[in-house]
Amino acid sequence: MMRTMTTTRIRPDEARWIITRDDQVVGIEPTEAEAFHRLHQLQPQSVSWATTNEGYAIEQAQPWPMDGDRPTNGARQLQRMARAIMFDHGHNLSDRDPLTRVSCAACVLGGYRERGAEGRRSDGPNYAGWGRLFVQAQAPVPAIWAAAFDRHRAGVPYEDGSINYAYLAALERDIATWGAWVARDA
Ligand SMILES: [Zn+2]
Repeated sequence: MMRTMTTTRIRPDEARWIITRDDQVVGIEPTEAEAFHRLHQLQPQSVSWATTNEGYAIEQAQPWPMDGDRPTNGARQLQRMARAIMFDHGHNLSDRDPLTRVSCAACVLGGYRERGAEGRRSDGPNYAGWGRLFVQAQAPVPAIWAAAFDRHRAGVPYEDGSINYAYLAALERDIATWGAWVARDA
């Protein structure tokens, strides 16, 4: 059976809108209008009250500076690190031992999954922060993980109900910097 695949592009200007309070991320929304709506839910008084007196701010995610002021926050550095993690196997490629492969980030991010692993294969690779790595390396998110990436971006809470807003805001900055490619089954 033939599987047809398309790769969709998320443009940098489609990065989401970030709501902060005292510089802590408290919400992420797809559009400016939805961000204002969300802010109104958080602080019903008024938007100007919320921003003037309550420390709230709304801004579309901004690209990383090309070279950051720390060794880890410039676009160039992030991309170099992501490519190293995603593509440099720390072992001889003839080594197909499951223990080697499950502890190798490049294998896991390339789709290797140990037999009997918990969870569904479509939930994404078992590697923290994988969504950011694909964006930073400018590698297409594989179709099998496209839905997980969408849920990720939509801020669907983890199993314990928490949402890692700082991580999601950083992901949106990655998208504002490079855009993203997502492969999908057509
Ligand atoms: Zn490997």
